[in-house]
Amino acid sequence: MTETNKKSLIIIGGGISGLSAGITWAINNDVKKDPVLIIEKNPKTGGFVTSYEREDYWFDTCQMLPNISDILEYLGIDMEFKKFKGYYMRIFHVNPDTDEVKLLELPSGVETFKNYLMEKYPSNASQIEKFLDYSREMYLELFKLKMELKFVDILKLLFTCPKIIKNGSKTFAEYFDQFNITEPNVKEIFNVFAEFAALPSERVAAIVPLSAMNSLLDGTFRTKGPFIEFSNKLEEHFKELGGELMLKTEVKKILVEGDQVKGVETEGGEQIFSDYVINTADTKLLMEKMIGLDIIRGLDKKYAQKVEEVKMSTSSMNVSLGLDDKIDLEALGLDCGYNVLTTGGDSYDRLFDAYERGEIGFSDQIFHVGVICPSLTTGGRPNLTIRITPMALGDWEELRKKDRKKYNERKEKWAKFFIDKVEKYMIPELSKHILVMDVSTPATYKRYSASPTGSIYGMAPYTDNFGRTRLKMRTPIKGLFNPKFVHGVFGALLAGMQANDMILNGKIMNGNARYQAS
Ligand SMILES: Cc1cc2nc3c(=O)[nH]c(=O)nc-3n(C[C@H](O)[C@H](O)[C@H](O)COP(=O)(O)OP(=O)(O)OC[C@H]3O[C@@H](n4cnc5c(N)ncnc54)[C@H](O)[C@@H]3O)c2cc1C
Repeated sequence: MTETNKKSLIIIGGGISGLSAGITWAINNDVKKDPVLIIEKNPKTGGFVTSYEREDYWFDTCQMLPNISDILEYLGIDMEFKKFKGYYMRIFHVNPDTDEVKLLELPSGVETFKNYLMEKYPSNASQIEKFLDYSREMYLELFKLKMELKFVDILKLLFTCPKIIKNGSKTFAEYFDQFNITEPNVKEIFNVFAEFAALPSERVAAIVPLSAMNSLLDGTFRTKGPFIEFSNKLEEHFKELGGELMLKTEVKKILVEGDQVKGVETEGGEQIFSDYVINTADTKLLMEKMIGLDIIRGLDKKYAQKVEEVKMSTSSMNVSLGLDDKIDLEALGLDCGYNVLTTGGDSYDRLFDAYERGEIGFSDQIFHVGVICPSLTTGGRPNLTIRITPMALGDWEELRKKDRKKYNERKEKWAKFFIDKVEKYMIPELSKHILVMDVSTPATYKRYSASPTGSIYGMAPYTDNFGRTRLKMRTPIKGLFNPKFVHGVFGALLAGMQANDMILNGKIMNGNARYQAS
């Protein structure tokens, strides 16, 4: 082993989790003595937070953020974001039998949102108030949770986090039912937050959508320029702090000696050593391919069994459209964080059932998509993105490899299907304005992230893999951490800090699950 190929910390993956982990390490260590290296397989960092140019149009993958200012301040990132005023979300609820569209517009701000709902649905006003107040209190309890609970912490939780103790293992649907809200529109609104986690409300752990809802109500933001500027800023800062970055390098193997991590081996066969490795690539990829389940089983049978049981989140399809200058997107109310076009009711459950069979469940009767207009924030030529989950990898990858023509035909068929829906129910004559179209499929996400299932959010937050039951971040291999879990940029930033907090014995967050500025 030579001096130059030994690092104090190796991070696999240069997405937001990896960059956050790298910056946190560099802030808390003298990197000349304790070097940190990020290894990224793609030619650039950012992972799923990226932007791409097609014929003078800029398209983004990521679309909105909650308030992450505390974390960015800790990381030393100075960046201006646009905060959505007015509505942060609109739901277009379609009745496909009558073609009637009901529009539900959700205003920003916790109190404004609550008052709006109570006034609009007076018969359920007290139930809505109770639901929102209780959920807010439960969300705030998250800041008192510890990452790794000792016996004494569990006892303390009974007093500090009673609502989480009571509801931590409930699905969102079970949790919601306790409040006796009968208004179907209100149920529709709250279910949308469950679907942000790409799980139906009957499956998702209640705290995940409640957390998404509360953090977005505190403020919904997006970058003023293309989203890639955010990743670039993190990379730049990591390098400024002395962090090392290897691009176009794929980690193939984790080096393990006994129960201790020793480093990594790259695709080219280079071994780089370290007593600490943070993995931010797909969990199954790490456990099954880079380590091997037999090794994990040999160290901790229960952990290995949990790895086998863990389900990854869904994949996705994105239809990005470059439009002509004649379309007035602002007049269409598109200057808001997120629009949901849905047939509502149990649509998402049925789409999810199809997804679990590896099929596409979208039809004229059942659909549920996000519609976002980045250009009203970023400037540049008018554009629109249609975001579709749940989508299974199915045979998308196989088709792409074996028959590119058929793959493209299928891609275009589905893109047309989703454009037609948006045109019919949301943006009249949309197709007349389209000049450029770029479509990504589950095969794109698999290729880009190396996730075997093309999963876009890491592990899925089912109730049996959440909180105390989640696959532990500290793996049975000493020095190896697998922090990526709660989906989204906020979760990714936090994951990088949490893993460092474990390595540095609570120096960053005092063992807490959430970061709170002192
Ligand atoms: C289309 C889309 C839209 C989204 N919209 C939003 C949104 O609006 N708001 C929001 O908060 N979140 C959104 N997300 C989710 C968010 O982008 C992700 O949760 C977050 O970026 C995950 O960051 P990460 O670093 O944990 O993982 P990733 O971004 O997946 O990064 C992991 C990195 O590891 C690299 N890697 C993988 N295997 C290896 C290997 N063997 N060796 C070296 N490197 C490897 C990958 O190339 C990748 O760069 C969206 C995601 C997608 C796909």
